[in-house]
Amino acid sequence: MADVLETQIRQIGRELAAAMPSMSRHPLKALDDRALHLASEDASLRAALFRFVDVVPACRSLDDLARHLTSFLAQVDERPPPLEAALRVAETRPGRAALGAAAAAGVKHIAHRFIVGETPREIAGMLRSLWRRGVATTVDLLGEATMTAGEADRYAQRCRDALEELAGVYAGLPGRPALERDGAGPIPRANLSVKVSALTPLLRPDAPELGERDALDRLRGLAELADELAAHLHIDMESLDSRDAVLAVVLDLLSEPRFAPGPSTGVVLQAYLRDSPEQLERILEWSRRHPRPHPLVVRLVKGAYWDHEVIEAHQHGWPTPVFEDKAACDRNFEALTRRLLDARPAVRVAVGSHNLRSVAHAIAYNRMTGGDDRDLELQVLRGLGDELQDALAARGLRVRTYCPVGDLVSGMAYLVRRLLENTANESFLHERARGAQLEELLVAP
Ligand SMILES: Cc1cc2nc3c(=O)[nH]c(=O)nc-3n(C[C@H](O)[C@H](O)[C@H](O)COP(=O)(O)OP(=O)(O)OC[C@H]3O[C@@H](n4cnc5c(N)ncnc54)[C@H](O)[C@@H]3O)c2cc1C
Repeated sequence: MADVLETQIRQIGRELAAAMPSMSRHPLKALDDRALHLASEDASLRAALFRFVDVVPACRSLDDLARHLTSFLAQVDERPPPLEAALRVAETRPGRAALGAAAAAGVKHIAHRFIVGETPREIAGMLRSLWRRGVATTVDLLGEATMTAGEADRYAQRCRDALEELAGVYAGLPGRPALERDGAGPIPRANLSVKVSALTPLLRPDAPELGERDALDRLRGLAELADELAAHLHIDMESLDSRDAVLAVVLDLLSEPRFAPGPSTGVVLQAYLRDSPEQLERILEWSRRHPRPHPLVVRLVKGAYWDHEVIEAHQHGWPTPVFEDKAACDRNFEALTRRLLDARPAVRVAVGSHNLRSVAHAIAYNRMTGGDDRDLELQVLRGLGDELQDALAARGLRVRTYCPVGDLVSGMAYLVRRLLENTANESFLHERARGAQLEELLVAP
């Protein structure tokens, strides 16, 4: 069985790689990748760039921007010649303005690769075009940290507006059977990803109940509207300090009798957490006790806050809650994938990854155990998984692309997480950009 699975994984991995559009057709993207690659080679340059990206939204003028850029770059230990040249340019005021303009354009250019527009309305055309190409989406509204009840209300209102907008966008589009029906029944077209931390200013690990109640009140309104519009609501997972509260909010909400019929809802499981297998058992137990016409969707990811969790644990002298060995994390991801696929129809399964091995493993195991392709959803992030998205759609698999919308200022935290992920040495995309052989990337972790 294990040998057959491995053979299938290699086969599917090769087929997907062959179906990916060539990088040469995206010259600008290839340029970005080279820039990201350069950043990943030098730790101090990488740190300087991250600090710079953080302050860009606070800069008031190009001169200001260039001053920040040069002060960050001045901290880089060994500067390659282009950096030396940039620092010399910045010695005069006109030089600083020119450098500032170039830096601002660069940050915007990279940001637009990940952040598709400022509002759901602005990206309506793109959402429709993806659907026509066989790609479903989930929209994420980027926001700054929620510090007041007013900000939480505003975020909830933006979510309501987005749900209405998305329901309108997807009405009247041609049928795409692979995207809108599986063995459990119809799958909503409109899909919104929501952050519980943005729905309340009160979410604190030391006093979770208050924040949970506050978030629940706002989430309830969203769930009612999603149900009315037959839309899907997906609750993202953030750092570990809010994990238990987020899950409690979602499961408490869905346990209310009025939400037993709907809406379709989903949660996220982070495989980088050592205790994720127990977390999954908790979710499965709840799902078995609460059968729903729209089974709870579980989106399995590795986790986007790895650096944060490691640093936080070290600072407090706590044991790290995340795996520190990438292969162990990947093995856990595969074990959780199998456990989830075996647990259907109690849950619907979505695998969120850009790692060809992790994705091919999910497809192969599903097929080997008699599952239909339509009973597995594969999810990617806009900007990072574009080629994989096209390859999956071309092979008729169910793919959903996560599309963040918002302005550059509120998108900065998102952008930094994506940059960290993309330039981490052990990341699949980084290995691939470095030219690692496909067969090497497909071996069992
Ligand atoms: C549609 C979608 C939705 C998402 N939603 C969420 C969400 O709600 N919450 C969330 O946290 N993330 C979310 N993510 C982000 C996801 O966690 C990252 O994209 C993912 O971690 C990258 O993994 P990969 O399989 O694509 O790449 P890979 O390169 O295979 O894995 C990279 C990941 O491995 C882990 N890792 C890195 N180094 C080590 C190490 N030394 N030891 C152990 N583990 C390590 C980290 O999690 C890192 O991000 C989402 C992703 C997608 C595609």
